[in-house]
Amino acid sequence: MACQSSDELKVLVEEARTCAKSGKVADYIPALGKANPDDLSIAIYYPDGRCVSAGDVEKKFTLQSVSKVISLALVLMDRGPDYVFEHVGMEPTGEPFNSIGKLETTAPSKPLNPMINSGALVVTHMIKGDTVEERLQRLLSFIQEMASHTKIGYNEEIARSEFKTAHLNRALCYFLKQHNILDEDVEQLIDLYTKQCAIEMNCLDLARIGMVFAMDGRDPLSGKQIMPVDVARICKTFMVTCGMYNESGEFAIKIGIPAKSGVSGGIMGAVPGRFGIGIFGPALGEKGNSVAGMRLLELLSKNYQLSMF
Ligand code: GLN
Repeated sequence: MACQSSDELKVLVEEARTCAKSGKVADYIPALGKANPDDLSIAIYYPDGRCVSAGDVEKKFTLQSVSKVISLALVLMDRGPDYVFEHVGMEPTGEPFNSIGKLETTAPSKPLNPMINSGALVVTHMIKGDTVEERLQRLLSFIQEMASHTKIGYNEEIARSEFKTAHLNRALCYFLKQHNILDEDVEQLIDLYTKQCAIEMNCLDLARIGMVFAMDGRDPLSGKQIMPVDVARICKTFMVTCGMYNESGEFAIKIGIPAKSGVSGGIMGAVPGRFGIGIFGPALGEKGNSVAGMRLLELLSKNYQLSMF
């Protein structure tokens, strides 16, 4: 079913777009620096297959940290929650997403949650498969199934650009290796992680994935339970407590929707039992979240009373 462009959403997009000026495109991954800070698009995907959108919803972007919640779902299915949470915690940090500080002061020394980089690296490490290619392919197949889009792949230029510059993530890996939380070759793990973060799609795909999370892991259109209800529940809970990094508290109060953001400017929202949201707006605020994307979600949440609280 084609996505309908919506005049109502367009008005909200234009209002939210004015906030983009206060943000900045991420450039610590050099290839991300090419994004246009004024871009803003949104798609909303309903369980009956209807879709409404505004902005350039065909434009592709990389998932970056949005991928963390999807790799978590896969790993929870691969290994079960008990094993996963022996290696990564369940608590928000209040620190930036790439911070190393809490690793040293937390005992036992494991990442506080799977949405910060250290925790996500541990999660990616747990993806089953014999080679990087096989593990990436398993993650891609899972994503393709949720998005109902078999062509989803990763952006090689952005993966390469991050691989070359991911020194802080390498440092996190070495720290975790020292503490026996990782036992994989660091270059190999960074290779897989940067390809995972460079998985590329548009807002429609992202909204459809959000819809599957919103519907407790079931794709109502194919009738298939893609992930167990419990896995979807755990993922949505992390989206509420840690999905917007150290801005998650403010986000829960102002918006109240399980959501996950990435430094490309993507945000995936899952309004429980109702619909999925995909947003792309690459100008970021200080905490690494899309400024116009957050404003757009705030307008949506207020106008349509979407807060779950
Ligand atoms: N690939 C990015 C990194 O590890 C993802 C971070 C993010 O989106 N917050 O730095």
